[in-house]
Amino acid sequence: MNDDLNDLYQEVILDHNRSPRNFRALPDANRRAEGDNPLCGDHFTVFLKLDHDVIRDVSFQGAGCAISKASASLMTEQLKGKTAAEARSFFDQFQKMLVTGQADEDAMGSLCALGGVHKFPMRVKCAILSWRAMLAALNGQPAVSTEEP
Ligand code: ZN
Repeated sequence: MNDDLNDLYQEVILDHNRSPRNFRALPDANRRAEGDNPLCGDHFTVFLKLDHDVIRDVSFQGAGCAISKASASLMTEQLKGKTAAEARSFFDQFQKMLVTGQADEDAMGSLCALGGVHKFPMRVKCAILSWRAMLAALNGQPAVSTEEP
């Protein structure tokens, strides 16, 4: 990845940290889960409105570092209108990108902004936190912590 692209991705993260998308409670959510990352102090609640198998709406609330907040914001943009199966598939691809730095840019879109996180292993937990909460919500689990498997 060249430096210009890195700058662009930095800008995406800063923007989503400053003005997070879908940063609100979802009163008619039928799934929700808390995500906790005690190592960094990130804590978010992810709300899903699941209609049969389709994510009609998704939002989040809470507080955390720039990486965790930007990741949650990007996730909500990515998953709205997707099926639960697609959301699980995105989770797998996103996790792989955070560990390896490799991503299918066409499939991942703006989520590639977080590809550089793989160079900072401590921050992987920040970036994956809201995604783990989203999976927990899909699975009917009320809460998840990055310090538990
Ligand atoms: Zn963090």
